[in-house]
Amino acid sequence: MRAIRAPLTLSSPEGETVAAIRRTGPLSRADLEQQLELSRASVAAVVNTLLSLNILREVGPGESQGGRPPQLYAINGAFGYVAGVDVGATSIDLALADFTGRILERHDEPADVRDDPEPMLEHIADLIAGMVAKQNGRPDQVLAIGIGVPGPVKFAEGVLIAPPLMPTWEFFPIKAFIRQHFPAANVVVDNDVNVMAIGEASAGTGKGLDNFIFLKIGTGIGAGIIVNGHIYRGHDGAAGDVGHICIDYNGPICHCGNAGCLEIMAAGPAIAARGKEVALAGGSDFLRKRLEDNKGVLTARDVAEAAKAGDRAANEIVRDSGRMIGGMLASLVNFFNPQMIFIGGGVSNIGYRLLSSIRQAVLRRSTALSTRHLRIEFSQLGADAGVTGAIWLALEHVFVVA
Ligand SMILES: [Zn+2]
Repeated sequence: MRAIRAPLTLSSPEGETVAAIRRTGPLSRADLEQQLELSRASVAAVVNTLLSLNILREVGPGESQGGRPPQLYAINGAFGYVAGVDVGATSIDLALADFTGRILERHDEPADVRDDPEPMLEHIADLIAGMVAKQNGRPDQVLAIGIGVPGPVKFAEGVLIAPPLMPTWEFFPIKAFIRQHFPAANVVVDNDVNVMAIGEASAGTGKGLDNFIFLKIGTGIGAGIIVNGHIYRGHDGAAGDVGHICIDYNGPICHCGNAGCLEIMAAGPAIAARGKEVALAGGSDFLRKRLEDNKGVLTARDVAEAAKAGDRAANEIVRDSGRMIGGMLASLVNFFNPQMIFIGGGVSNIGYRLLSSIRQAVLRRSTALSTRHLRIEFSQLGADAGVTGAIWLALEHVFVVA
């Protein structure tokens, strides 16, 4: 790999050609003419430019439709590296990929986002540099870095605005800080759920789907929205913050200050709190024993395990949570008519009991036409959704297309 000056500016047909080959795999000139509605001469010029820049490479000929089989063009994996970072509330997960998106190195470790941004980002930069060195590469060969963070992000500037989990990060210039270490890299920061939706759309079961929602259920609840194949961030980057939709005006006060938000009533901490209540009231032997074993601490995972073991009270908690989440999702379905809803995040590990109660609530409360083709499934990417999405977010932002 050789260093390039970044971010590299491509013309619009050049950018579209790279995107089309990324989407579908190797293509011939004739394929590109057809897909991009470009003339033969334009495609020839674009392909020649991209070959000379080492962005594309020639691969073996494709299938012949009578006559000589056409030459195919693929993304050149050796063009440069991209890195993906998934910053969670309690962990960081990183990957280094080649320019095709193939993951070369992985690393994850526990972390606490309540810590200040400087030391944490410094550490993240060191970890990326370490992965590049392991590949015998140099920092200036990293062309883009995608970072998903658990809070509201003003996308254009890549800064967090009033993040409840990580208050000291507000307005911190993440992009400029990381770029000090990787001068050739375009750094892109996005909300973690948007990043997961991008992962699902680029490398998961969502590939090829035009309209879907990725719902993350963990400590909080949020949605990533894919519209016509692209992430929808809204006017200010705040779209999808569905955890703060009110489901009970007389409900408990959420950390956002309002009463009865979905998140405070149905996310991981709510499931854990209800489990503890039941255990202390003598409603579940399983949970009472777990509470004793854990020295007074009970997690959503404990409630999930109790439910799996057939505990009636735990099952009721899971079902209630699914019903509340499904009720909110039904409103989204009526509003947006997605073809698919993917469920991900830590609490999705609770399993099919949660999924089936979500499905029931959605089907009961949405209009017939909007659910005719709707499917609701767990994301198959599982815990990899964030880091996969961060890689693809980075790949989307290697070039400036003018
Ligand atoms: Zn709230």
